Amino acid sequence: MLLSLVDSLRCIAPHDESVLVLSVDAWREDRIERGTLGCPVCRAEYPIENAVADFSLGQEADVDPAPPALSLPPDEEAMRLAALLDLAEPGGIVFLAGGHATLATVVGSLVPVVSIVPSDARIPITGTVVSLTLGDRLPLARGSLRGAAVAGRWAGDGRLGQVVSALAPGARLVAPVASALPAGATRIASDARDWVAEVDAASSPLLTLRRSRGP
Ligand SMILES: [Zn+2]
Repeated sequence: MLLSLVDSLRCIAPHDESVLVLSVDAWREDRIERGTLGCPVCRAEYPIENAVADFSLGQEADVDPAPPALSLPPDEEAMRLAALLDLAEPGGIVFLAGGHATLATVVGSLVPVVSIVPSDARIPITGTVVSLTLGDRLPLARGSLRGAAVAGRWAGDGRLGQVVSALAPGARLVAPVASALPAGATRIASDARDWVAEVDAASSPLLTLRRSRGP
């Protein structure tokens, strides 16, 4: 777990968004190796073990089947993904699930972004790759992602909407062509494998937040 990610994590319980309070038991270099993320609203606790934060709340996490073999070499797949997600500039956070998770390290070597991957993808935690154990809910703040590429269980109806909520206005979402386009996103391109959509500014939760803060 990276300290810089903590601000973007949220409690998954059904109450208003709440930032989590971090307590660290052990560091390894710049990573939180062991600790707890606690919710000040509902007192839920999310343990961090071996640098992986567990947001499953003890539910048996359903595991994606083995991702399909990549049709191109990994570096070409990573370049394709970076182009689809419009990752020209460094910085920010992306969510890579399903087969895309296997590209997290290579994408990070192309452009410095923090990649969140589900822990069932069993990706080595190196560089700016962050692994989270996920149940049904995505523990991310609204508008916290600059891009997401999903397949497998995170490309299904119930979860794709959560991914859109976590994306910033104008951010790109890549999902398999078989996935239904969720509300709040507009398809801008597709190929034989995936479609690419852009999150609508009109439904932006960030704008709602800004409005609700008032003058
Ligand atoms: Zn809570």
